[in-house]
Amino acid sequence: MPGLDDSVQYAKGVGPARLDMLNRLGVHSIRDLLFFVPRDYEDRSRITPIKDLRVGDKATVRARVIAAETYRGGRGRAMARVEVADDTGHLLCQWFNARYFRADLFTPGREMIISGTVSFYRGVQMVSPQCDPTDGGEAFSAARILPVYPLTEDLPQSGLRRVIRSAVEQHASDLPDPFDAEYLKTRDLPALSEAVRAIHVPESLEQAARARRRLAYDELFILELAMALRRRGVRAEESGIAFRLTPEIDARIRRRFPFALTGAQRRVIEEIGRDMQAPKAMNRLLQGDVGSGKTVVALYAMLLAVANKRQAALMAPTEILAAQHHDTLRRYLAGSRVRLELFAGGRPAREREAANRRLAAGEIDIALGTHALVEGDVRFQNLGLVVVDEQHKFGVLQRARLRQKSLHPDVLLMTATPIPRTLALTVFGDLDVSTLDEMPPGRRPVASRWYPPEKLRDAHEFIRARVAAGEQAFVVYPLVEDSETLDLKAATTSALQLQREVFPEFRIGLLHGRMKPDEKERVMVEFRAGRYHILVSTIVIEVGIDVPNSTIMVIEHAERYGLAQLHQLRGRVGRGEKPSFFLLFAEPKNDDARRRLDVICSTTDGFKIAEEDLRMRGPGEFFGTRQHGLPELRHADILRDFRLLQLARRDAFDRVARDARLADPANALLRARLEETFKGRMDLIQVG
Ligand code: ADP
Ligand code: MG
Repeated sequence: MPGLDDSVQYAKGVGPARLDMLNRLGVHSIRDLLFFVPRDYEDRSRITPIKDLRVGDKATVRARVIAAETYRGGRGRAMARVEVADDTGHLLCQWFNARYFRADLFTPGREMIISGTVSFYRGVQMVSPQCDPTDGGEAFSAARILPVYPLTEDLPQSGLRRVIRSAVEQHASDLPDPFDAEYLKTRDLPALSEAVRAIHVPESLEQAARARRRLAYDELFILELAMALRRRGVRAEESGIAFRLTPEIDARIRRRFPFALTGAQRRVIEEIGRDMQAPKAMNRLLQGDVGSGKTVVALYAMLLAVANKRQAALMAPTEILAAQHHDTLRRYLAGSRVRLELFAGGRPAREREAANRRLAAGEIDIALGTHALVEGDVRFQNLGLVVVDEQHKFGVLQRARLRQKSLHPDVLLMTATPIPRTLALTVFGDLDVSTLDEMPPGRRPVASRWYPPEKLRDAHEFIRARVAAGEQAFVVYPLVEDSETLDLKAATTSALQLQREVFPEFRIGLLHGRMKPDEKERVMVEFRAGRYHILVSTIVIEVGIDVPNSTIMVIEHAERYGLAQLHQLRGRVGRGEKPSFFLLFAEPKNDDARRRLDVICSTTDGFKIAEEDLRMRGPGEFFGTRQHGLPELRHADILRDFRLLQLARRDAFDRVARDARLADPANALLRARLEETFKGRMDLIQVG
């Protein structure tokens, strides 16, 4: 008898044609077949009399074939229709493509179970319904709950159901279970063989749901096992500095803040304080929407380092952002003895060398700059903390370089890209995550609306009025140059046109991705200084720039942007006291695009938007699966299964705490599954 790892061609009922189709669905072994799970179920335990069918419902009827025919429809296409009836009425079943019609099934008088969505065309009808005879041979007609597999139309459900059902009967009990009965019982999970049986041949929908929960648990457990191993690798190597944090130090730092901290800031500062006091290196991600007050939190951490006679570094993705941080910190630290230095490019060599010398001599407490701070010949005397703004611009490589510069400084990564809690847990297994989920008081939400493109003229008049009143505006386009294929307005031509035809009285700046970094910076600096009234731009303004006087952002072709991009863009306005406006012009061509526009206009909460984004795109797309080594999840849904994820995470971390190398023979199966899941990416995990 064939085993689980043998080719699916040895499974009962699989001939060459089916083999080919199964292979194309990613099913190669008999094991794959067992784990090829239904996408849905048809509940046929409820039979509806034909007279009670309602248009739009999914329903199942039990009826006899009256007549069946294939015929030529419009444009000569081969179509098929079958008339069936029960004691209460007649129903027409329609196939618009006769290829998917199995004429042999529909002999007059034969009783069938027919399931489909009810529609209306000269009477009630179902288009391409599922049909199974109730008589001998078709074992599945007796089953009340039928699995519906994700198939191409070439492979009919009924055939695959039979193949899988017999594979389940023959092979499911051979599946080794990595968890013992006691373990499963305390978690209310079925045995693996039982789950595989029930997911294909459930006795009830509840049983199917329980089966899915078990498969999802296993998947999440393996994922979290990888995270636990990865974290153990990171932790083991890094002993760090144990900073001293006394109530006096704490009070002294807090006196620097001109406002009461938000609850979220207080909580996060406590988390960071705890990490920094511990004798191991901090590796923490601070996430919070634009404007949630991350800078203050970072400042707290840096001042704690300085109070411990250590240096701190703050790194930003661009020079302009580094300069912006410098301005901000200078204001918070006015009148203190803390020595700040901005390591900007383009300074005379003499000045730069002098600054480097002071840094190496410990005469600078807080150094600000771009990644250049950790490259080249810059040396710190006793670097204790590194804060990295917008961590995704800062690669692993640079983190490694940083570590060479000093004995494991604490690291605080900051990002304004909200990541749903659930995903942060799974993706950043090797980081601790702190979340600022509360905005400082007194912020006005940016008024957000979307319009059809015809309304653009009105927006121009609106901009004219606001700019005349002393405010500034952004106009954003997706591309730099006209592209015939996409037929989008380009920023360059539009800037010219806006200048000449619409706003001859205003100064218009242009910013796009093809400009050199220093050109971009110059334009941004000038816009910020008020030398342009309107900035026409591609999405390069996405990151961090703060222009409190800009109150309007217009986005053309808004349907082309992702939710995260729109949210980031919106963060550029509403940074000052005045009411701000986010005006989207769009022609959504499908439901997803329309949904994105509705979502962005209905909330300014970055975490809600991120969750919606995750829901719409799935975790792989959302985060770039490969970059993070996140395997695709087939059974689990990170949002829906959050509780299960937490359970799996706790269990996996416990397991690694007890058996850090998974060397115990009892863990051999888990280890094998881990290797199977992370094939070729084991370096990410550092298993023993
Ligand atoms: P982020 O870096 O997260 O975008 P910032 O740290 O720049 O946010 O803070 C945004 C604005 O909110 C700043 O003007 C800052 O002074 C202000 N702010 C921060 N925390 C508070 C608070 N607790 N109460 C009032 N205003 C705050
Ligand atoms: Mg910031």
